[in-house]
This record gives sequence, C-alpha cells and structure tokens, in this order.
Amino acid sequence: MTTAAAPSLGAENPWLNAQRQFDNAADILELTPGLRAVLREVRRELVVRFPVKLDTGDVRMFEGYRVQHNTTRGPAKGGLRFHPETSLDEVKALAMWMTWKCALVNIPFGGAKGGVVCDPRALSRRELERLSRRFASEITVLIGPESDIPAPDVNTGAQIMAWIMDTISMEAGYSVPAAVTGKPLDIGGSEGRPSATGRGVTIVALEACGKLGIDPGEATVAVQGFGNVGSVSAELMHEAGFRVCAISDLGGGIYSPDGIHIPALLAHRSHTGTIERFAGTTPVTNRELLELPVDVLVPAALENQITAANAGRIQARLVVEGANGPTTPDADSILERRGITVVPDILANAGGVTVSYFEWVQDLQSLFWEEGEINRRLERILQRSFGQMWRQAQAHTVSLRLGAYLVAVKRVADATAVRGIYP
Ligand code: NAD
Repeated sequence: MTTAAAPSLGAENPWLNAQRQFDNAADILELTPGLRAVLREVRRELVVRFPVKLDTGDVRMFEGYRVQHNTTRGPAKGGLRFHPETSLDEVKALAMWMTWKCALVNIPFGGAKGGVVCDPRALSRRELERLSRRFASEITVLIGPESDIPAPDVNTGAQIMAWIMDTISMEAGYSVPAAVTGKPLDIGGSEGRPSATGRGVTIVALEACGKLGIDPGEATVAVQGFGNVGSVSAELMHEAGFRVCAISDLGGGIYSPDGIHIPALLAHRSHTGTIERFAGTTPVTNRELLELPVDVLVPAALENQITAANAGRIQARLVVEGANGPTTPDADSILERRGITVVPDILANAGGVTVSYFEWVQDLQSLFWEEGEINRRLERILQRSFGQMWRQAQAHTVSLRLGAYLVAVKRVADATAVRGIYP
C-alpha cells in the first residue's frame, strides 16, 4: 500500500490549489508572462458585511463575498454558497474554476462565485429570506443579466434564487428574470436545470466508462453528498444501470455491496428526513465511503475530500468529480501514479452551468424550450467537451484534469490576447 505523503504547506487552501492547477497548464501552453499574470489573479473581489434582523428582534452581522475571476469571454457566471466555513479564498478558487469550466464547454461566460458565511440550518425561513435579499442588494454593484449572473450552489436553491431575482427586480422597477439562473419555472426558470449537474455527471461517467472499458451494468458506485448534485447523480447513474452501493451526506453514509435502490432511498429520506437506517444497508463514515471497493467514486459534497492522506487508499478505478475541488493537487499526483482516472470537476459538474446558460438565453428571448431539447443539447456539449479534453490529455500524455485545463486556459488566453489590454 502507498504510504500517505505529508501534506505540503497550504495543501488544503483551495485558492493556492486552483493557482497550482492553472500553473501546470500555463507551463505546457508556454503562456507569456503577461497573460499568465492576468489569468492567475481574480479581476474583482467584493467583501460585504451586512445586518440581518433575526426573528427575536436582535440584529446580527454577516460577511459575504462576490468574486469575478475573469470576464473576457462574456458575463461572469457562478453560484452562491451559504456555509459556515466559506471564505474569500474558497470563493476565489471557485470563481477561477468557473472561468475554466465555461471555457471548456465553450459557453460565452466568464467565471464568478459568491458566498455568505452562515449556517442556514440555524436560521428560520424568514431569516434566510432577509439574509438572501440583503446580500443580493449588497452585491447589486456587480450582478445583473449583462454583467454577472448568480446561480445555486451548496445550501442555496430555487427559492433563494427567486428571492434574489425579486430583490433585483424590485430595485430595478421591472422584472429581470435573466439576473439569476436556477430559478423556479414559474418565474423564468428552465426545464432540466434542477437535474442538470447530476445529469452531466452521469453523461461524463458513461463517456469515461466507454474509454476505460468499464461496463456500467457491471460497475459499482459510491456517491459522497446527497444534495442537488449527489442525489441526482445517484438517481441517474442507477437508471443508467450502475449499481450504486454507497451514499453519504453530512450526517454519515450507508453501504450495501448488493446495491441501493435509489428511488426507494429518496422516498425514505422524504419520509424520515435522513438517509440513515435505510433497510439492507450498514452505516459508513464519510471517510470510509471514499475508500470502499467500488469501480466509480463520485465525490459530490465539498473540496479537499481526496487528499495526500487518503489518496493511497482509494480503490475506485474512476473518480468523477461532482463537487468542485474535491481532489487536492497532491492527491491528484498520487491517483495518477496509481493509474486511477479522474474526470475533473470543470467537466464533470459543468452540466449545471451549461443549462444555466440555456436558462439565461431563454429568459433573454422570452422563449422557452422543452426538456427533451435541453437534455439533448446538454449531452452534445458534454460529449464534445469530453472528447476535446481526452484528445489533449492523450496528445500531451497528461491527466484528464490537465487535458481539460489545456483546452480551457487556451480559449481564455486566446480571447484575452485578441482583445488586448485596455487602454
Ligand atoms: P447541496 O447543498 O445541495 O448538497 C450538499 C450535500 O453535501 C448535502 O447532502 C450535504 O449533507 C453534503 N455534505 C456537506 N458537507 C459534507 C461533508 N463534510 N461530508 C459529506 N457530505 C457533506 O449542494 P450541491 O449543490 O449539491 O453542491 C455539491 C457540490 O457540487 C459543491 O462542491 C458545489 O460547488 C458543486 N456544484 C454544484 C452545482 C449545482 O448546480 N448545484 C453545479 C456545479 C458544482
């Protein structure tokens, strides 16, 4: 067994990791020092501190961020995360990853991300609404349908997007549906958006299985995280014939080598509020789930789950990154040495932003498409991007992550070079 290497300094700082990943691509692309300097930094970072009235009548201050990494190829695009441990460095990394993701799937957006340091579970619905609206108002200097379009991320969903859309619209004096994506259908949301990220995970998992000679009907899967991305990935992979054997969320996981019936698990969770004690499964911790003897591992929770400390014990042959940044660069090297294929986040979870792009286009045109059309377009885009990534990785004998970065960073670098530096 491989001995875990000591983590290097800053090994779990997502921003330093994002810059390391960029540097690896910039070296191979031989970017000029000027282009490298431009692309390695974020363009704008806004930190806001704002009061929210609690139900008790007390006032509490919250801190939030909106970061735009790059807007060369179009308006900035990226989700909003509500989490007690979010930070400016995390949001900067997520914004940079959005730039590469949009470029890789070749949609005309730059990269952004936002977050509020809070524990939404400790807030009432009315407090959460006031927080969402006040945060939206604080960041209106940056966001808007032509400049920067937020979407859901961890602990945010369609309802929060509706409050944000309403706040922006009230301040403008007219409805601005294209200001956010991931909205409810009633106010200009798109068919297929809630399931888009998990659908994308499934599409690229099938592509990767095809390349690696893994038969989905024979393959076992573990999914970490059972929120928007994890639950839809598990459900659609189950439908595609994979045997999903393990699932976890913040409270821990469940495991059955014979496979878990995902629709029944979803019904169990909606009755009991938890995935725990699902018939025929045994409990596993989140750490144990990552190291189970399965063919495919889908981390779909948070960053830094596969690190130098556990990469030597991962048994899956294929890792499909539903989450952003679940694998540290140190862990990447270990997995690569061990012959484990990683489909990187910037492709694996790009289904969400791709259908967000469709939603934005539909809102701007006030003309809405059917779900079948959306899913077909999504599949075409992800399959094409998978092929481009695969070919770059083969051409340079590098990992799929680096292959994906070579495609994406080159697109942004070319766009930057042709636009030139203002003034
Ligand atoms: P979510 O809030 O819907 O769900 C998060 C899930 O992770 C929950 O099941 C939660 O219990 C679980 N979780 C949280 N902390 C955990 C931990 N320490 N260990 C195990 N499980 C834990 O969020 P989401 O939208 O599904 O996002 C998950 C990941 O996917 C994030 O990295 C996010 O940036 C990324 N992502 C989301 C989208 C999207 O469209 N929502 C798109 C692209 C990427």
